[in-house]
This record gives sequence, C-alpha cells and structure tokens, in this order.
Amino acid sequence: MDVVWTDLHRLHSPQHEINMGQPIPTYEKPSRAETIREQLATDSSFRFVDRREFGIEPIEAVHHAGLIAFLETAWAELNARTGRTEFFPEAMLHPGLRAGMGNPPLPTNAVSGLGYWCYETATPLAEGTYTAARASVDVALTAAQIVLDGASSSYGLCRPPGHHAAADVFGGFCFFNNAAIVAHHIASSTGSKVTVLDVDYHHGNGTQQIFYERDDVQFVSLHGDPDRAYPWYIGYEEETGAGAGRGSTINVPLAAETEDDVYVARLADVAAKISAFKPSVVVVSLGVDTYWNDPISDLALTTDGYRRCGEVVKSLGIPTVVLQEGGYDIEAIGRNVHAWLSGLQG
Ligand SMILES: [Zn+2]
Repeated sequence: MDVVWTDLHRLHSPQHEINMGQPIPTYEKPSRAETIREQLATDSSFRFVDRREFGIEPIEAVHHAGLIAFLETAWAELNARTGRTEFFPEAMLHPGLRAGMGNPPLPTNAVSGLGYWCYETATPLAEGTYTAARASVDVALTAAQIVLDGASSSYGLCRPPGHHAAADVFGGFCFFNNAAIVAHHIASSTGSKVTVLDVDYHHGNGTQQIFYERDDVQFVSLHGDPDRAYPWYIGYEEETGAGAGRGSTINVPLAAETEDDVYVARLADVAAKISAFKPSVVVVSLGVDTYWNDPISDLALTTDGYRRCGEVVKSLGIPTVVLQEGGYDIEAIGRNVHAWLSGLQG
C-alpha cells in the first residue's frame, strides 16, 4: 500500500490548547505523525511516496474563500500586533449573540476574524499552520489520486487532521477538511458517488455539515455520543441529512467503554448501508482515539480490534482512501494505525 507523507506537517507545532479556560500542552503534536511513519516503515508492504501539489482550487470547492484567506494571512497580522506566537479566539460568533438579527459583516481584521472563522479554543493558529494545513490537503489528494489511478487502497498520513473543519469554520485541531475535499474532488471529477466513513472517536462534524444536503456523498460516522463527547452539539442519531441529502447521513453514537466486539458489529451494520449506497470510493477518516488508553477519549478498542475494523472495510470490496485524523496515545498510535491498515490490506 502506498503511504503519502510530507515533512511539512512539522511546521504546525503549537505548544498549547485551551481546555475549559486553562492552557494545557496540546495533544495534537508532530510526534503523532512521526510515530506512525516510523511504525509503517518497519513493514515492507508499505511504500512511502511524496505528496503532489494540487493547488488551491480543490480547497476553494469546499471552504469559504474568507476562511482560506484568514488562515493564510492572520498569523502574521496577529504576531505583528502582539508579538505572541499562538492565537485563540477571545469571543466567538455564538448564534444567540445576534438571534433574530442575521449575520454580521465579514470581519475586516485578524482579531475579529479569529472568533468569526473558529468555533472553539483547542486549535491554536501558529506560524506554520497554513503551510502545514495546505500540505495535509495535498497528502490527502495524492492518496486519492493513487486510488483513482487504479490502486485498491492508499493511506494519506495527514497532519493536521481535518474532519472537524466545516465549510466556513475551523476547530478541533483541524483547519481544512482533508476527507471532505477528497470526497468532493472524487465525486465532482468522476460523477460517481463517494462514501466518507468516519471512525475517529469524535464525530466528524465538519464533514457532516459539508455534505448534509447532498445525495452524491454519503457520510457515515461511529463516535462517542455527543451527550458526553466533543464536538458536543452534533452527531446525534436523528441527524440523517436534509433536502436531497435526506438519508445520506448515518450517525452511530456509542456508549462509553465500548469494546471490540460491539464496535466491530456496529461497523459491520454500517458497512451494509455503505454497500447499498454503491459508492465508487470509500474515504476513511481514521482516528485511533477509540483506543482503550487514549488520553482524551473513553472507548475501549484494542490493537487487534483495529485489524478487525480494517478487515470489515476490506470486505466491502470498494477502492478505499484512508486519511489520518485523531489518536493521542503516542506510544500506541503507530501500531494501531499499522493494525488497521494491515486488516485493510489482508
Ligand atoms: Zn478524534
């Protein structure tokens, strides 16, 4: 299996996130990707390839032009103004603020832009963030191209991750939605249907939002119940799509401490619904923060469980692009991703 990789992820190396008002060391750090790379390099069935550059157009097809421009320019403006190196919003555009009054004008400076384009405080904007996020999209699109060129599977070692970024807003360690950009790119360039299967512990709110009213991209997510898990306000079973997209969104919230057997059974349930949708490609948002020892999550999967999950996806018999999302137990992240991809390879 081809593994798409770039060193440029290292340019996004913030120190902090804000957790319930307190700065703490960030969980989303470069060692996550480095550990995965080192683990996969021990197995000769994986071949590393460099990313290709796809330009800005595939990102513009999914994200608001104002969000893209903000991410490109805001760090320099904020750094010049304050001398600081990491930035979080101080106020966010909560819908209650302007209830009944419509939207405000677009922000005209980076300070007001922070709370306009970002919805939470776990996602520092740092000096190299934009370059790393652009490279992460290119990693994802290169992995997609490998499958479009005929491979049965590929893996994009994306960092920063993407699935919490919605069309108009970033957050959740994510800036551009790698999986959504890939799914839209495949669907629009081939005219075929695509499924995004999101198995990260956290609901893929950004991906759901982007495709909620579309019938050509199915979104399927297994995740910690939003009653107790980030991103809190989205990912309920009752959310099934709207308009033309009605029925194309499938949410499976899971109980705390869900173990391998139950998880694999739920995955097999949704696999049947993916087969029925008949996509040309499955894009997997792979998070291994469902691991029993993950520091920010509460499911209970094991390394062998990841191999079984990969086997379930392999059984679909559909070309599959796997993109890295979360996973924060650095000691285990490499072998867990390795196990999942080994199950997919068979
Ligand atoms: Zn996650």
